Amino acid sequence: MKYKTLKGLQDILPPDILIWQHIETISRDIFKIYGYQEIRLPILESTDIFIRSIGETSDIVEKEMYTFQDKGGRSITLRPEGTASFVRAYVEHHLYNNAVPQKYYYMGPMFRYERPQAYRYRQFYQIGAEAMGIEDPKLDAELISMLARILNGAGLENLNFEITSIGCKHCRPAYKNALKNFLQSKLNGFCGDCQRRFEINPLRILDCKVPDCIASRHGSPPVIDYLCEECKGHFDGLKHYLKMLRVPHTINPNLVRGLDYYTKTAFEVTSESLGSQKAVAAGGRYDGLVNEFGGPPAPGIGFAIGMERIVPLIKDSLKKSEYPDLFICPIGPEESEEALILAEQLRENGLWIEINYDKSSLKSQMRKAGRLGARNVIVLGEDELKKREVVVKDMMSGTEVKTSIDIQELIKAIKA
Ligand code: ATP
Ligand code: MG
Repeated sequence: MKYKTLKGLQDILPPDILIWQHIETISRDIFKIYGYQEIRLPILESTDIFIRSIGETSDIVEKEMYTFQDKGGRSITLRPEGTASFVRAYVEHHLYNNAVPQKYYYMGPMFRYERPQAYRYRQFYQIGAEAMGIEDPKLDAELISMLARILNGAGLENLNFEITSIGCKHCRPAYKNALKNFLQSKLNGFCGDCQRRFEINPLRILDCKVPDCIASRHGSPPVIDYLCEECKGHFDGLKHYLKMLRVPHTINPNLVRGLDYYTKTAFEVTSESLGSQKAVAAGGRYDGLVNEFGGPPAPGIGFAIGMERIVPLIKDSLKKSEYPDLFICPIGPEESEEALILAEQLRENGLWIEINYDKSSLKSQMRKAGRLGARNVIVLGEDELKKREVVVKDMMSGTEVKTSIDIQELIKAIKA
């Protein structure tokens, strides 16, 4: 074959697309009742935006970004995630001046140069949500509850909601110290990247996927033991509200996120049905990010769902195709033009109409109608045109109804 999709990319075709649309529709419906509005952001951004927010020593920035120079010599990156672009837009358009809470959602492709494997792509789609302006953990609990409603609504079962708190800039120095003390004597067991991270950003060592590093950091102190009073109170609040809202969850003190901007609440939703790539959604709070981007201090929290990881978990029964309401078989050139007009008039009434375009025989036209699964068929011949009358044949039951060539009459017969 001459041309193929790039490595790690995929085409999404019917009937799989029906599952994608189903998830998107459910999500939109649920976002609406929680007051989230859609935003569409560019896929390209200045590279700095991601370095500044996700962090220089994160895997995404160090290894996974699609970065290039445009013809004007600027460094451009295909967005690897949505939050950084969102916060750029939030500050750029002064959205912080709107009434709080400010709630937004987006759907679209993200790009990461990762090693492709099952459920891990280089272009993948996320449905993300961001809620701004509220520090209270009630918002965190509500957002996680909304996420559960979307995933359950889409048809997913047996999901684990893991939550933790990763503290803020006040508790982080003490935690960093404790972590460095723990790692110091074991440094030789870590990869080169982690040895470098030890000096500049030791927290990132907790997110390294190299097996030796995972083994060497075993038993490291959890952040949760080092939370300041405020973060501890916030986390207690979150747990309380989640229980109150009956969102089943577990506390995972070892949960770390691959992005530097998170503060306090962090969470991940996993499915045991996926094997090693089991995170279907993840998110957290980022109370310092707006300020970092030059906006006023404004707290925020968000999540992103990985579409490619939830689509396979949704029952194939949703792939039920839809079928044309009517297939029109014209016999000659004059009837063929009549078919074209008739189809347009019927479509104006919301019906799905297919016609035959070429000069094939009636037998072959009927075969085409069958292959498309058309629910009804009419044959347009010289006689039919002269009498302005056709027979609508129901392809399932075989029943035939004679009706005049009048749009309302035809619709009645098709819908019968
Ligand atoms: P992972 O640990 O699997 O690499 P992550 O922590 O890098 O995930 P996030 O940045 O939190 O992922 O993105 C949120 C969600 O997006 C993930 O939970 C996952 O469902 C999805 N996702 C992330 N990277 C990919 C990818 N390369 N291919 C498909 N889905 C992805
Ligand atoms: Mg990743």
